[in-house]
Amino acid sequence: MQNLDVNKIRSDFPILSRLVNGKPLVYFDNAATTQKPKDVIDKINYYYSNINSNVHRGVHYLSETASKEYEDTRKLVQNFINAKSHNEIIYTRGTTESINLVASTYGRNNLVEGDEVLITHMEHHSNIVPWQLICEEKGAKLKVVPITDDGELILSEYDKLINEKTKFISVVHISNSLGTINPIKKIIEKAHKYNIPVLIDAAQSIQHTNVNVQELECDFLAFSGHKMYGPTGIGILYGKKELLEKMPPYQGGGDMILSVSFEKTLFNSIPYKFEAGTPHIEGVIGLSEAIKYIQKIGIENISNYESDILKYATEQISDIKEVKIIGTAKEKSSILSFVIDGIHPHDIGTFLDRDGIAIRTGHHCTEPIMRRFNVPATSRASFSFYNLKEEVDVFVESLRSVIKLFS
Ligand code: PLP
Repeated sequence: MQNLDVNKIRSDFPILSRLVNGKPLVYFDNAATTQKPKDVIDKINYYYSNINSNVHRGVHYLSETASKEYEDTRKLVQNFINAKSHNEIIYTRGTTESINLVASTYGRNNLVEGDEVLITHMEHHSNIVPWQLICEEKGAKLKVVPITDDGELILSEYDKLINEKTKFISVVHISNSLGTINPIKKIIEKAHKYNIPVLIDAAQSIQHTNVNVQELECDFLAFSGHKMYGPTGIGILYGKKELLEKMPPYQGGGDMILSVSFEKTLFNSIPYKFEAGTPHIEGVIGLSEAIKYIQKIGIENISNYESDILKYATEQISDIKEVKIIGTAKEKSSILSFVIDGIHPHDIGTFLDRDGIAIRTGHHCTEPIMRRFNVPATSRASFSFYNLKEEVDVFVESLRSVIKLFS
């Protein structure tokens, strides 16, 4: 393992040197969104200062340059997740839109009354609600794989729940409120024995671990730019070419057509069939710098460093007897959720904020998990490769003083 020069890395992120409430910012809300390196910020500035124009539409220099950067990014994403073709990479607004796209096109085309869609108890709302909507429309049923008290999927339940009515499986790679890393390769293998396509929600994994779609053989993969050091409003849907080609368009408009008459419209080929209207060009171009930045540090170095920080934070927080960790799976990544008896998570968050510490409190868009663990909400610290063990110490000290105050 290469040792990361974290102080050098931190200097690449302008926001990390600011003060909040008079204290150095400790940013532990990385699962909600990550901070942006200067490369990404500068690239967005470069785009608007030098090449701003619409893509795919002009023959002039600016449009051709912006279009080239836009399409080069598609190849970069292809390479980053090892897709077979750049045509399998669709730009969306984020994970949420990617999942909605699949539910409303693949789902609408393939589900019939009585069919079943299988998800898990640890999904983010964005991998629950789109399936609920399409199931309701089609008269299909949503089935849920349960989890253990440690927050691990009960894998054997897949064998019980998969049957001839199961038409789609969607599963989160890493849980945003428990940190559990799911054995997605095994789940995909189980599903493919019955020819059931699988969507992987990679919103919390793409920035922490190597994701290789050909090795996984997943059918769809969704993630968001803003959680991987890129801009907000841009995301990716990967889909296998043979599936994407059979799916109807998601939205109608410019760019997604070959020809339009009042009688009939012919649709463009993939990926453009799914990209109606002027896209988020600045987002795409900014995302390319985020990917290059991750590649520069190396995803394995990131994984190792973040595992170390998580281990350290877990040890430190476990020393506080009032703290109960929610999510104690054997395989975990970067997320530490906890509750403290008698102190509401919002109070914890507010008090930590006074010390310049940003954590997340609430249900984290996973209400079913909160119910499963019988808590209204949790406090969640989530880590990145730019965080320091010294910051964990500041966080733990602040937590101790909150407990003292409330007792
Ligand atoms: N899935 C998971 C596991 C998430 O953590 C999130 C966001 O927190 C999403 C989906 C939705 O991502 P976005 O809001 O970027 O679309």
